[in-house]
Amino acid sequence: MHEIGLMKNALSMVKREALEKGLNKIELVELVIGKMQGITAESLAHALEIARADEPMFADCLVKVKEVEGSMKCLDCDSLFSLQEPAESCPSCRGGNLKLVSGLEFYVDSYTGN
Ligand SMILES: [Zn+2]
Repeated sequence: MHEIGLMKNALSMVKREALEKGLNKIELVELVIGKMQGITAESLAHALEIARADEPMFADCLVKVKEVEGSMKCLDCDSLFSLQEPAESCPSCRGGNLKLVSGLEFYVDSYTGN
């Protein structure tokens, strides 16, 4: 359930910025979430409910998600491959020298409020 912590962090970051800008109410938050986080729409909705339980400024806030495909690069043979979960070895050369390129994102892309 790590998405609850991630969501709380995301909302508190938005809240801090929004208060500095004089916003009282957030209408929309756009999140970028990597597919390798393994977060389903249901668990995300659940995390949102928990994260905003004590935050009236997010009471009517909608959350939109942009998903990022998971991908890793092999540092041995230079192949780039996409995947749903972090891999242990390269599908081309079986090497274990892999670098995560994308898929573990979780950040606020933008938000609107008034
Ligand atoms: Zn390789």
